[in-house]
Amino acid sequence: MKWPGFLLPLVDLAGSVIAPLPGSDDAAHQNFRGLSSRAPGTSRPPTNTPRTKLSSAEQTDERSIALDGKRIDYKLVRRRGRRGVGLKVDGTGMTVAASLTTPISAIEDMIGKNGEWVLKKLGEWSHRKITPQRWQTGATIFYLGEPLTLMIDAGASKVKVEQAELQTQTHLFVQIKAALHDPAAIAEQAEVAVVAWLKKQALPHLAQRTFFYSKLHNLTPPRVFLSSANNRWGSCNSRREIRFSWRLMKARPALIDYVVCHELAHLRQMNHSAAFWHEVERMCPDYVALKQELDQNDHRFRAF
Ligand SMILES: [Zn+2]
Repeated sequence: MKWPGFLLPLVDLAGSVIAPLPGSDDAAHQNFRGLSSRAPGTSRPPTNTPRTKLSSAEQTDERSIALDGKRIDYKLVRRRGRRGVGLKVDGTGMTVAASLTTPISAIEDMIGKNGEWVLKKLGEWSHRKITPQRWQTGATIFYLGEPLTLMIDAGASKVKVEQAELQTQTHLFVQIKAALHDPAAIAEQAEVAVVAWLKKQALPHLAQRTFFYSKLHNLTPPRVFLSSANNRWGSCNSRREIRFSWRLMKARPALIDYVVCHELAHLRQMNHSAAFWHEVERMCPDYVALKQELDQNDHRFRAF
């Protein structure tokens, strides 16, 4: 299951038949909601193009274009071997993907052709922009749907993260070694420490919920793994392995349970057919509302 980060109206310039996502015959994912939303008449380009880490194989550029009299800034990412021009819109704005050699006129042409779609999606995203997490004392992170106030203790002799009640608020005390006068190092180390803490809480919680629902619905409990996916909540494969993103721990328990049920339902239906959703409903009767809540809060869960 993907969460609704990316809207990918990926456009294939050649108009050729597009290969399915690698492994899609063998795996089911809860992806970004937006991945299923493409501009009308456009198709997804092959995603199995090998990506090399050579810096010359990828170039990023900030550009802008006028659409309907409005200036729209976008990020152009050129990759060697990329076929077609891809447009995506999310909480960070518009990103356009193209090959290293696609002429800028062809890129602008493609944006222009999808101009109405782009403006509509940018409008939809305007109230759920992803704002990066602030890593300083007083900032908030979400844990199981509840706000935790960060208390950062820089210059400590060791790294330690601890949750504690202080008056009526729940705090997350984060001890890190970064020097007090170095905000960049503080932010970096605080994020590393908090992510490690979230991951440590995630596996027992997710494994327990998976075990609980498996037993309740007569399924052999699958193996549970954590992932760091930034574009999907969970995935399930035919080897009965379920992976959950540790980012799920930011969501309230009922939302986590929906994702657990969704992945467990894939053990019976490795697809998103009506039979699959029927299975989800059996395990999680409120799934429609929960799925919607998860989609609508995606920008909160993806601040880091
Ligand atoms: Zn799914």
